[in-house]
Amino acid sequence: MPEVPDLVPWAAGLAQALVGRTVERARVGDPIMLRQMVAEPFPTTLLGRTLTSVGRHGHFLRFGFSGDLALVINAMLAGRYILGRRELHEKAGRDPKAMGLVLEFEDGQTLTYVDEKRMGKIYVASPAEERTIPVYAALGVDVLDERAFTREAFEKLARSRRDQVRAFLMDKSALASIGNAYADEILFAARLHPKTMVRTLTPEDRGRLFEAIGHVLRGAIEEIEKRQTPPGVKVRDFLSVRGRDGKPCLVCGTTIRAVRVNDGDACFCPHCQPATRKLFVDFGKLPSAVATREAPAAADDAKSPRPRPRRSASPRRPPSGS
Ligand SMILES: [Zn+2]
Repeated sequence: MPEVPDLVPWAAGLAQALVGRTVERARVGDPIMLRQMVAEPFPTTLLGRTLTSVGRHGHFLRFGFSGDLALVINAMLAGRYILGRRELHEKAGRDPKAMGLVLEFEDGQTLTYVDEKRMGKIYVASPAEERTIPVYAALGVDVLDERAFTREAFEKLARSRRDQVRAFLMDKSALASIGNAYADEILFAARLHPKTMVRTLTPEDRGRLFEAIGHVLRGAIEEIEKRQTPPGVKVRDFLSVRGRDGKPCLVCGTTIRAVRVNDGDACFCPHCQPATRKLFVDFGKLPSAVATREAPAAADDAKSPRPRPRRSASPRRPPSGS
């Protein structure tokens, strides 16, 4: 799925190529992806309108048109954008239904939203309907907005969480928007195990996590911009842990592991991101006699090939009842 570091350069590239152009033709490959929220039918509603802006909102791209109409696209798992005609025809030969949306502009320039999985959503909305688009209308604080996403704002969000840190990072109504790949990268940079409960994070942990969000995302945007790939091409070859399970950690050499967290897989380094001892005992795997808070930290989902070092930097909480 395209994530914020992909979408920032894509939005800039698409804006540069297309803003100021007028739509001459528009069509959808598979209507299942189209969410027509205005009365005027598609494609009539888009024809003759001039593209005025391309922007990223969380993990959505928003295309603004003259006359207060917007196309808002959630690319979900596999959506991407192709600029230009040649690629369009190549794609069309393969699977016309995968072409979610094709916009042809008056000068011959073409934008295609391609989605082989057809899971993406394309909303056509005026300002009133735009405020009702699912998820989009309820996005949390934008993690790249330095004025809104402050340490204080982050603390306030973290305070109420009763879930695991990776689930918190990926909750779009809290933080807009972090996906699977960058959740892993952020947790690696913050040296936090993906299953750590948010409420057990120390102020120091939360500080590292907050810093890692901005640092990892901005670093990735910078790296992707350097490659100068066309909008729509995902660049992931520089990531530290995501997609590298089974390979050695770039920092310590320990094998990167994948572990199930909620409905996704998290990649992490068991050495750099150690489980905090008492949190990760799987009571189901222990004989009842030792299933106490004093049980050894032997039952994490991912078996570390090395002894798991303790985090000396974090003060340990006293056991309950003392
Ligand atoms: Zn490591």
